Amino acid sequence: MSIVVTGAAGFIGGHVVARLLEGGHRVVAVDRAPILSAPCGDLTTVRADLAEPLGSTLHGALAAADAVIHLAGRPGVRDASPGLARERWRDNVLAGARVLEATPPRTPVVVASSSSVYGGSADGCASHEDDVLRPRGDYARSKVALEQDCARRAAAGGLVSIARPFTVAGAGQRSDMAIAIWGAAARRGLPLRLFGAPGRRRDITDVRDVTEGLVRMAERRVHGIVNLGTGHSHRLIDLARAVAAAVGREPTIEVTPAAAVEAEATLADTTRCHDLLGFVPTADLPALVAWQLAASGPSVPVRHSTSVMSEVV
Ligand code: NAD
Repeated sequence: MSIVVTGAAGFIGGHVVARLLEGGHRVVAVDRAPILSAPCGDLTTVRADLAEPLGSTLHGALAAADAVIHLAGRPGVRDASPGLARERWRDNVLAGARVLEATPPRTPVVVASSSSVYGGSADGCASHEDDVLRPRGDYARSKVALEQDCARRAAAGGLVSIARPFTVAGAGQRSDMAIAIWGAAARRGLPLRLFGAPGRRRDITDVRDVTEGLVRMAERRVHGIVNLGTGHSHRLIDLARAVAAAVGREPTIEVTPAAAVEAEATLADTTRCHDLLGFVPTADLPALVAWQLAASGPSVPVRHSTSVMSEVV
């Protein structure tokens, strides 16, 4: 198959491109950032800002594709920098709308939304794809708006599916996410700061499983919404301990108040993933954390050196 992958320079996008090339697909990798890694295979790269009117190269690539995996976006639940709401709208909603519009209706588009649209899993109940959405904050709301664009494409007879990944971990994880930040802090002997309470829980998903799920959604021309999570959640304190163990340090934990955008707990209902994609992600947390931190090497930068933050998307 010929598959367009947007957001290909990013964390998940890099894994998806590599997996597709290994699987013998032709890949057109799109990002506004440079795509630095060059895995072997039939790969074309396109540097473009998808929130701007698309040029003829991109129109041609989307028209010729057998499937599109749209990952480009502005992640980050917790980030509240000035002007970010507008940027999120631009990169998550406008860019998504342009990709959906330029892709022929019979070409399946797999769109990355987020588990954050649920606003957390109440009382330990797993979030199901048909649940009423309770987005907290601009990021989650921008993903809901993106999903609404997908619903309009589906209502008009177009092929589209929505992936809702739960906190994705593994080699190359974004440097603003908890494991990456805590790993860097632990290596420097700094405390690991976590938000809210040590008992808050997250469903943490291996990026290799998320990748497999996204690829199967494209290959199987799946319709509708699919959670990409494990159906098991981990306490933040256990995640922090796994990070400290992976770098061979005794953990020092600091707990600070959580912002309103932080859900108490996240947990995926995995029934639909099992039924449509034929597998359920699993995560051996210590092994996953050790793999990520070994891949990042000893010199991961701490973005917030005086205020070590954690983010669990
Ligand atoms: P990432 O930031 O590593 O990658 C996103 C990529 O999109 C970047 O390379 C960026 O340059 C590109 N991009 C952003 N706006 C663009 C635009 N207008 N035009 C072209 N390229 C643009 O993020 P990630 O962690 O790999 O996440 C990928 C997708 O999955 C995002 O949509 C994110 O919201 C979603 N998601 C991620 C997680 C997670 O835990 N990482 C969880 C749920 C959902």
